[in-house]
Amino acid sequence: MQQAPSFQVIDGQLIGARQVVSPNYNQRPEHTEIQLVVVHNISLPPSQFGGGYIEQFFQNQLDWSQHPYFQTIEGMQVSTHLLILRTGEVLQFVNFNERAWHAGRSTYLAKKDCNDYSIGIELEGSDDQPFEDVQYSILAEVIATLQATYPKILQHLAGHSDIAPGRKTDPGPFFDWPKTRALIQQYKADQ
Ligand SMILES: [Zn+2]
Repeated sequence: MQQAPSFQVIDGQLIGARQVVSPNYNQRPEHTEIQLVVVHNISLPPSQFGGGYIEQFFQNQLDWSQHPYFQTIEGMQVSTHLLILRTGEVLQFVNFNERAWHAGRSTYLAKKDCNDYSIGIELEGSDDQPFEDVQYSILAEVIATLQATYPKILQHLAGHSDIAPGRKTDPGPFFDWPKTRALIQQYKADQ
């Protein structure tokens, strides 16, 4: 079945995503090509969904006094390129041409500092709950779109736990990699 594409990349912007500006980014090192997609999960407070706190967090606008957990991350300045909410809505915080702060200390295929050359995608989720079907279908569509734009990422899809083992556990045991890979292939075949 042929589907109309919902997403398109123009000048580092994902058309089809809601644009929300995060101040937490800088330039990628010169002559650095985008070579990797890193999948994460995040929920604020942990394992609770909705509320808009993740969006506020990535904008440095989270009121730390609103929840005891928030005090444990007070002052952290992080971001991601994309966030996929439980509803399937996609938010873009950082242009793909810029370096978002999602991976931290990390290594992929012996190459350090994954933020330099990767695109970060956060799924609203946790290590202890399944993700929504709509999150998988949107994620697959977004990754297929990114692969068409940045061919070097074709074979390079990793979880945060893969590039920062021992330090990070996301996207966690509920994230279904085979399903994600199958949906990406299916989406491409349908185009
Ligand atoms: Zn992560």
